[in-house]
Amino acid sequence: MSANYRPETICIQEGWKPAKGEPRVLPIYQSTTFKYENSDQMGKLFDLEEAGYFYTRLQNPTNDAVAAKITALEGGVAGMLTSSGQAANYYAIFNICEAGDHFICSSAVYGGTFNLFGTTMKKQGISCTFINPDASDEEIEAAFLPNTKALFAETISNPSLVVLDIERFAGIAHRHGVPLIIDNTFATPINCRPFAWGADIVTHSTTKYMDGHAMSVGGAIVDSGNFDWIAHRDKFPGLTTPDESYHGIVYAEKFGKLAYIQKATAQIMRDLGSIQSPHNAFLLNIGLETLHLRMPRHCENAEKVARYLQEHEKVAWVNYAGLENNKYYQLAQKYMPNGTCGVISFGLKGGRDVSVGFMDRLQLAAIVTHVADARTCVLHPASHTHRQMTDEQLIEAGVRPDLIRFSVGIENAEDIIADLEQALAAV
Ligand SMILES: *Cc1c(COP(=O)(O)O)cnc(C)c1O
Repeated sequence: MSANYRPETICIQEGWKPAKGEPRVLPIYQSTTFKYENSDQMGKLFDLEEAGYFYTRLQNPTNDAVAAKITALEGGVAGMLTSSGQAANYYAIFNICEAGDHFICSSAVYGGTFNLFGTTMKKQGISCTFINPDASDEEIEAAFLPNTKALFAETISNPSLVVLDIERFAGIAHRHGVPLIIDNTFATPINCRPFAWGADIVTHSTTKYMDGHAMSVGGAIVDSGNFDWIAHRDKFPGLTTPDESYHGIVYAEKFGKLAYIQKATAQIMRDLGSIQSPHNAFLLNIGLETLHLRMPRHCENAEKVARYLQEHEKVAWVNYAGLENNKYYQLAQKYMPNGTCGVISFGLKGGRDVSVGFMDRLQLAAIVTHVADARTCVLHPASHTHRQMTDEQLIEAGVRPDLIRFSVGIENAEDIIADLEQALAAV
């Protein structure tokens, strides 16, 4: 088993484990369905009496192998793939919240998450309070209500690059009897394993570093198995009372530590269907095989770029937790001693318009709605990903209107810096 493998080995060896005569490389099970020999065999699968494949909307062997690899990387007990990071975060919350419930989220989160939690889920009767991740314990605890079911935050926030004090957040969540859910997209389990610091559930947009090549949109949810649903029976009826849509199964009793992912698969995925295609899962697996090689290079290059920008006279400010003068340097050292991620943000003197003019002059760094892949890319959140937000909301989310999000790739750092140099010279 994987228990003793180090991350590099997990990236390569975990997941697909071929038996005698089976393909060495993870096959793409490009099949919607799976054949059985008699009606009773299939019936047992529908009753969750036996494990097995019957329809790809619920489970597929290619996807399961890749989910197992991500689960091993995070040190969890069970995991699942989703069609996108958005679906992963939605399911992670919806699996334990229903209409009338409430949860708490760091205000420093991805714009799509902010919309999903603050607007779309509200229409389903699930409300979210956003809190400043740097607020005191008392201020955050004041947001808890009797119907609060989860605390959610990002390890390193996109795009504001706030580093979360995971241990502190885990303490707050557990004092109120709810799980801490961490979106670990930017750090990846190569740089941070939130379960080691008390987080209960981790989500990913695998679209970013895990895929690493900007090929496929995807997501993942991993459960540590540590949260005791039964001990908080009244808060989580979905896991601790009979599921009428599954002949009265009580997930937490029947599946123990696997209950959360079992429910998310058998109930939420069954009914909402945001599956990852097996072909995308196959591509994701290739990305995962080199994640441990790419992350250190992303961090090394990002640090060089951040130091270069910091010294440049036209640069107003640089935000990268790998810089000693960064507000989050100490937290980054604690939680990510080997590096944070390849994403930097900065602003130019002269503000928003100068920043936009500079971006248009970049040649190697491409303007794309993407982040965290092998190729250096750049985006202006206030004009692009976060353009639906008001200036106040932008500031609250830690996104200054002049903020340029610069995602440092794994090219030669000197070439990336030369591109910045020529664009800065022209503004
Ligand atoms: C991109 C991103 C998401 C959303 O993921 P998609 O795969 O684009 O749906 C969620 N969280 C974070 C931190 C992200 O960067």
